[in-house]
Amino acid sequence: MPERSDRAVLACYAHPDDEQGVTGFLHRCVLQGVRVGILCATRGEVGQIADPALATPETLGIVREQELRRAAAVIGVHDVFFLDYRDSGMAGSPENADPRAFINADPEEAVGRIVKVIRAFKPTLVITFDESGGYGHPDHLAICRWTTEAFYAAGDPSRYPEAGEAFAPARLYYSSFSRSIIKQFAAFLAQNGIPSPFPDVNPEQMGLADERITNTVYVAEYVDLKRRSLEEHRTQMFPNTALSALPAEMWRAFRSVERYALAAGVPLPQDAPEDDLFAGL
Ligand SMILES: [Zn+2]
Repeated sequence: MPERSDRAVLACYAHPDDEQGVTGFLHRCVLQGVRVGILCATRGEVGQIADPALATPETLGIVREQELRRAAAVIGVHDVFFLDYRDSGMAGSPENADPRAFINADPEEAVGRIVKVIRAFKPTLVITFDESGGYGHPDHLAICRWTTEAFYAAGDPSRYPEAGEAFAPARLYYSSFSRSIIKQFAAFLAQNGIPSPFPDVNPEQMGLADERITNTVYVAEYVDLKRRSLEEHRTQMFPNTALSALPAEMWRAFRSVERYALAAGVPLPQDAPEDDLFAGL
């Protein structure tokens, strides 16, 4: 085991499996002795169920909590925090109206719950979705907004004094698939007559705009480990999705690179290597 550094990373997401976009970087951090935690706002309790033998709508939340814990353990992460909100469902679904839904949370309270985890875990870096939420899921937009607020509030002793001693993380990063990759996928699907998995979302508004990417992390050596982590989300392993139609090479290339945009905090030094999110800290 490497020596444990005083550095830490907290990845803040909305549903079990949202963390899959950053598992390569998180694993590399673990190997470097960096403490890594995953915060998950909900248990994804209103998702679809790939195999009815695995869960029912009533048990899906607890099953997906276990799936996230196993997926995290595959990449060496054992600190998993839940905010205990309910999955709000896709935009326009009846679940949006549930008072327990994450999107209906009192913003002050939701930010406070994230602040409490930040102050206890003391991450150097906080990572969350970019403002597009990847593809616009309302919970993804909410976790981006409220994690961003919590990033600032955690270091302010006048905010949430009951949530622990103030602690200011050094940097906030947004991560998502790059827009150019989404457009490549969309073009491939269109050429092959495969319907888009997100027909209502304009690819021009999906993912992280390439010009905002400040850091690129190459994780080809962890692609198989990332796949094993992904596959722990068994209730979400649907056969024959549009994405499973992508050629293996295209999929592998996609999973080999992770993109990050510095959103707040200490600026990167001018000569910082593109794969060093801690540069200059
Ligand atoms: Zn999600």
